[in-house]
Amino acid sequence: GRTIGILGGGQLGRMMALSAKAMGYRIAVLEPKTGSPLGQIADMEVVAAYDDIDGARQLDDVSDVITYEFENIGANVAAWLESTDSFPQGSRLLEISQDRLKEKQAITEAGINVAPYAPVTSLDELKTAAHTLDYPCILKTTRGGYDGKGQLVIHGADELDRAWEELGSSGPLVLEKMIAFSKELSVIFSRSTAGEMRAFPVAENVHRDGILHQSIVPARISVETERKAVAAARRLVKAFGLVGTLAVEMFLTEDGTIYVNEIAPRPHNSGHFTMNACETSQFEQHIRAVCGLPLGKTDLLKPCVMVNILGEHLPRILDGLDEFPEAHLHLYGKDAAEPGRKMGHLNVTGSDPEAVLEQIRTSSIWREKEAMGAKQ
Ligand code: ATP
Ligand code: MG
Ligand code: MG
Repeated sequence: GRTIGILGGGQLGRMMALSAKAMGYRIAVLEPKTGSPLGQIADMEVVAAYDDIDGARQLDDVSDVITYEFENIGANVAAWLESTDSFPQGSRLLEISQDRLKEKQAITEAGINVAPYAPVTSLDELKTAAHTLDYPCILKTTRGGYDGKGQLVIHGADELDRAWEELGSSGPLVLEKMIAFSKELSVIFSRSTAGEMRAFPVAENVHRDGILHQSIVPARISVETERKAVAAARRLVKAFGLVGTLAVEMFLTEDGTIYVNEIAPRPHNSGHFTMNACETSQFEQHIRAVCGLPLGKTDLLKPCVMVNILGEHLPRILDGLDEFPEAHLHLYGKDAAEPGRKMGHLNVTGSDPEAVLEQIRTSSIWREKEAMGAKQ
């Protein structure tokens, strides 16, 4: 049988592997830690850092096709992989998505809006940039951030010194204008090695404390907005010559303008609804895309709300399941249930999306009151 090598051992790799195994593939993983979510179910483990070329060579020795489940692969390994014939996705999107400045430049060059921004490498630059962009604005590390880590909202000039103290030593930064969005949306596109392209239905995403909380599908937007969101994502897919999967996170404002927040060249948390609500899941589609198989249909079969299970939700999840008569539980096999850590997700389906949202709002696991209380 054929073997797929996956760089990264997290939950996205695990769910890719579960799909690939159902399709008859064997899985090898490269990951620095043993016992990772993917390591637990992979057929072969290469224990190595993401910038270890020897590790990449070992993975290549046992793999027919190599893909990745996260974007922070060392540039040396990415370049080496590109010299093999088993890395159909190439390294350009890795390079772009690893660095928020390169990402914003590339998106802008493709003709798509991003929030006004400025690079920041000193307190002086921060002050100048904040003065130009005005408040509120948000300071982010250009590299390595996820789940809202490495970012700070700045409400006024009196917060600049503190913001610099907190993030100034974390490498290059970018200051962005806060977009007063009415909704956050995402579009997940797949493109196969043969050039076939498919988009999944647009998701409406709700974040809590910088971490994705819910994806609601269908998104509660007009047909025209849906078309615009998909068109913007398609434009990026074409500009970047995508092979594999591209997730595009967007802000939608009241007047219908779309800004792209960031991209991820892989299956994405906001696409987990596809596992139980679409004909083909984003993970099966990704495997099809990188293996050169025809892509599957992406139609939505039923409304769905994906809700993330964080460490603090885990103790109640099994008992609380009976509050959701129509739901699918996905857990990632992680041991340490730290608060804010993604431990799994629940796909809640139902014919009435508002009723599904109400189930979640009033559930013992995700009760709205609690979240508001915790913020104060
Ligand atoms: P992810 O886990 O999605 O990779 P991340 O750490 O890369 O997250 P961002 O996506 O940049 O972080 O930001 C997290 C969330 O913070 C966004 O989804 C949005 O809710 C809010 N946010 C970030 N930047 C802005 C902005 N310029 N204007 C308004 N809201 C923002
Ligand atoms: Mg991100
Ligand atoms: Mg994001």
